[in-house]
Formats: sequence, C-alpha cells, structure tokens
Amino acid sequence: MTNLPFVPRRVLAIGAHPDDVEFFAAATVAQLLDAAAQVALVVCSDGARGGRNLGDPAAVRRGEQARAAAALGIDDWLWLAHPDGALAAGDPLRSDLVRSVRRVRPELVLAHDPRTLWTIIAGIAQPGHSDHRAAGQATLDAIYPRSPSPNFYAEQLGGDEALQSWYPREVWLFDTAQPDLCIDVADGFERKKASLLAHASQEEAVGGLAAAARAMGAHWGSEQRPAEAFVRLRLY
Ligand SMILES: [Zn+2]
Repeated sequence: MTNLPFVPRRVLAIGAHPDDVEFFAAATVAQLLDAAAQVALVVCSDGARGGRNLGDPAAVRRGEQARAAAALGIDDWLWLAHPDGALAAGDPLRSDLVRSVRRVRPELVLAHDPRTLWTIIAGIAQPGHSDHRAAGQATLDAIYPRSPSPNFYAEQLGGDEALQSWYPREVWLFDTAQPDLCIDVADGFERKKASLLAHASQEEAVGGLAAAARAMGAHWGSEQRPAEAFVRLRLY
C-alpha cells in the first residue's frame, strides 16, 4: 500500500452510475482534494435501474448524487443521463467524454477498468457491470486517440465551445481485478462513507454500500488500513 504517488492540479473522475466513483475511489478523491487538486466528476448514466420503488428514479438519484458530491466537496459535476443499463462505448457517450476531457484538462483521469468481468473478493466473485465496462472503454477511447487530436469532434474546438485538445498524464483505473496501485485510504474513509450514505436509495438495493466498500477496502488493504485499488497508467 502506498499514499498518493502523484498529485495533479486537475482530476477528472468518470463513473458509469451515480455512486460508482464514490464506491471505488471516493477516499482517494478526498485525499486529492486535501492535496489541493481540483476534482471534476462525470456520471454517465441516469441510474434509473438502481433502487426499488423510487417513483422517478433518475430524479431521486440525481438528487442523491448532488448530496454525495457535496459530501466530498466537489462542485463541478456533470450528469450525462445516458440510459442506465444501456451504456455503449461508442458515440454519443464517447463524444461527451471527449468534451469533458477537453473542458477539464485533467492531468489525472479516474475511470472504470473496462476489462472487469468479475472480481474475486474474499473468495466470492463479484460480477462486473456491462455499464462499467462500457464507461471505462469509452473513457480510454476518449483519452486516446480522440481528445488530443483536432481531427476528432473538431466542432468542439471552435465556435462557442472553443475547447482545447488535451492528453492527460496519467489514468488510474478503479473497479479492477488486477490492481498495481493500492492507496491507503484510512485517511479519507469517513468522507467516503458519508458520500456513500448520500446514495440512500441504494442501501436496500445492494445491502449497504458503505459496508460493501469497507469489505472491499479491507480486501485490498487491511481491516485497520483499508485501501482503494487501481491500475496506474502513465501516458508520458
Ligand atoms: Zn455502477
């Protein structure tokens, strides 16, 4: 286990659903914020297939996401509202993510590992989610070759948007079965728990997000020193 190996000025965290960045990486995000990084969050789907009997589930989950972002101290968060359960790695998701990369200009991107079909935690297979893999794949495909190349989505680079081409320095993939970076998150875990409790509609649905996050933290670290797990990619 380690502490943060790299402190960027700007971070972009991309999750498939409301609660994913919080579940897999919120304590690392808290530590990055403590280190004076600016952190922007993108939620790809509307979360409408999570929870039970929510009435207007997307509206409920958007409200919960606002409270979770506030619990972490993130002001800049974007709700892309693609249909939950139907994320696909192509357009329009990919162009939305290129736009976010070009707008935020992150040195570090946090995203799902698109290879995760399952993860074994304490001997039990936790199946991966197709939306997570699609969001991770779309993120990697946005980072290369699209965001740095003016030949992709050129309309974003001119006109009213006037965004800039961009290539991040590092990508850390969470939601992975094969990490090479396990960050000690004993410092930051209380804020992670607060951000997860903001997703109140998911407590019943998955048997307690905060408890599951604690078990995963103990798996990658220890009971006393929970960890969040990533694959660290240095791009230049
Ligand atoms: Zn998810």
